[in-house]
Amino acid sequence: MFTLNSHKEDISIENLKISTWYFEAKQLTETINNYHKMQQETVADFKHQSLTDPLTGLKNRRYSEFVFTDLIESNQQFSIMMIDIDHFKLVNDEFGHNAGDEVLKFLASKMKSFTRDHDVCIRLGGEEFIVLLPNCILSEAYTIAEKLRKDIEISIPPTNKKITISLGVAEYRNSFESITDVMNRVDVALYMAKSEGRNKTVISK
Ligand code: GH3
Ligand code: MG
Ligand code: MG
Repeated sequence: MFTLNSHKEDISIENLKISTWYFEAKQLTETINNYHKMQQETVADFKHQSLTDPLTGLKNRRYSEFVFTDLIESNQQFSIMMIDIDHFKLVNDEFGHNAGDEVLKFLASKMKSFTRDHDVCIRLGGEEFIVLLPNCILSEAYTIAEKLRKDIEISIPPTNKKITISLGVAEYRNSFESITDVMNRVDVALYMAKSEGRNKTVISK
């Protein structure tokens, strides 16, 4: 009898030990899983930050390189729009750098609203922006550019003083040119828009 009880007791203690062990193992697994999830989120966060312009929330130049590579490797037709604020230095001079920053954010949000969801809006640096427009022919890119330009011309920025923008548009000549070539062409078109009086879109033919 004693032996039996003692045996039973042993078993129940053993059970208790096992269930405790299971509980701890489960907790440990959960902790490891949570830690792994947090690590993944942190990596995704860093990745997002390294490809995003912190001021405007648009994608940055680095991101544009990935998109260019993707578009070219998948043989996709696309156009590029390059945008530069006219006499932006005067905005900074008159209202200060912080107000200038607000104007950059204002333009960035206009860019988002005048382009399609799959277009990629990028701040190259300073007050220079591009939009990569997949499946968009030159004439369509021009239409989008002109809509944006005309809207900016009549909108009231955070400084309460209207601004204008100049734009260049170009269509990528599939497999005939490099990214540098097409970027140079769109840059030349933008330069022409500036030299022809600003507040203008020039097409690179
Ligand atoms: P243009 O019509 O020829 O483009 O004249 P611009 O004055 O816009 O061009 P310029 O290249 O002479 O000046 C660009 C200015 O943009 C000068 C610089 O201080 C300002 N800028 C560049 N990056 C930033 C930024 O991040 N924030 C602010 N507020 N200003 C910036
Ligand atoms: Mg400018
Ligand atoms: Mg500039």
